[in-house]
Amino acid sequence: PVRVRFCPSPTGNPHVGLVRTALFNWAFARHHQGTLVFRIEDTDAARDSEESYNQLLDSMRWLGFDWDEGPEIGGPHAPYRQSQRMDLYKEVAQKLLDGGHAYRCYCSQEELDTRREAARAAGKPSGYDGHCRELTEAQVAEYTAQGREPIVRFRMPDETITFTDLVRGELTVTPENVPDYGIVRANGAPLYTLVNPVDDALMEITHVLRGEDLLSSTPRQIALYKALMELGIAKGIPSFGHLPYVMGEGNKKLSKRDPQSSLNLYRERGFLPEGLLNYLSLLGWSLSADQDIFTTDEMVAAFDIADVQPNPARFDLKKCESINGDHIRLLDVKDFTERCRPWLQAPFAPWAPEAFDEVKWQAIAPHAQTRLKVLSEITDNVDFLFLAEPVFDEPSWTKAMKEGSDALLRTAREKLEAADWASPESLKEAVLAAGEAHGLKLGKAQAPVRVAVTGRTVGLPLFESLEVLGKETTLARIDAALA
Ligand code: GLU
Repeated sequence: PVRVRFCPSPTGNPHVGLVRTALFNWAFARHHQGTLVFRIEDTDAARDSEESYNQLLDSMRWLGFDWDEGPEIGGPHAPYRQSQRMDLYKEVAQKLLDGGHAYRCYCSQEELDTRREAARAAGKPSGYDGHCRELTEAQVAEYTAQGREPIVRFRMPDETITFTDLVRGELTVTPENVPDYGIVRANGAPLYTLVNPVDDALMEITHVLRGEDLLSSTPRQIALYKALMELGIAKGIPSFGHLPYVMGEGNKKLSKRDPQSSLNLYRERGFLPEGLLNYLSLLGWSLSADQDIFTTDEMVAAFDIADVQPNPARFDLKKCESINGDHIRLLDVKDFTERCRPWLQAPFAPWAPEAFDEVKWQAIAPHAQTRLKVLSEITDNVDFLFLAEPVFDEPSWTKAMKEGSDALLRTAREKLEAADWASPESLKEAVLAAGEAHGLKLGKAQAPVRVAVTGRTVGLPLFESLEVLGKETTLARIDAALA
């Protein structure tokens, strides 16, 4: 049975790269009717925070992910927070030491740096040189007497490591490229290099799908796995698949610090989880050459890790927005109406709460649904309905109010006054007729009407907007614009 894991560290805001990793693991697990384990890698007390842990859980739920084992729901391998598993790691580290798979290393940072420099200067590999691999008891006693505090270092076997990456195919690494590495700090704190594979082993993970940035740790982890198997701790070695890098602006790797990478930003702007996930799935994968828009269910049904492309994927905000807009269009109109609510209230809405009119909102919502790319755009698009006066922005006003606009507005007002306000078609004919009277096509004729009534040059379908706003207010606003 397939067992995969999503194991973020709670350091700062969740970012889109993390979400992409979670998505691919989730889709893989669901496709294979497997188990998704959610594990929190919070062994770095200096960088982890409870706030960011809570935010992670909240984000995962907002995105619609479910997990079979993990924080809050527990499972057979609980606890799922590494900070609560310290005794286990201590035990495993001791077993590795006892079995000769690891050793205590007394080298000081200074000594390591000096020898690394020397090796580099001599054109030799500059990783750990194995200095403490075979210390005698006398040497250990001397180092101890000097007050040195050892770290625990894993002893890499002297052999070439070959594995088949699920995305990249067969990869081979020779021993001189993988030096012995630290697994426990001098203060006893276990490192990622130990706790991550140990938990994968104990939790019986079958497939490790993670970002390409972790590719270099895979040979080391495979060696550690072999040792854990010898000790009876691991049952087997998982398969590994490394997901492609995500590139941002200027073809640079999208980094956590990039504002564009913050998940919160997408939530605040009103991306739908399903739209965002659809877009993120395209960073390395595709459903088919001619279908960009799909649901997470469709993704789950089709997902095959062998289809993931190893080459870097480019994060394209415009495309992300456009896909999100398509998902907005796919919503049931009631659902859309409800999902917009946060942006119809403080702190986003510039109108007083009592000015909000539910009947008008219900009437305009279907027209808004045809236009938005992200839900937060709703506020500006409907404020003309709830504010006593439209917000005019100067450039739009000058752009729309050309010479002759006054005359046109006067005619439009007359025709609108006589129109049938129960029909947007009739309102359109009124403006069309006003345009004809002044030699203007509909597009040109409606621009001043729109800006006089809504304050903006772009917005929702105009005649439906006028109908919802109502005859009295519409005419009063045109009058005000003419005054
Ligand atoms: N906690 C690690 C990270 O946040 C997980 C790495 C892995 O998937 O092995 O990058």
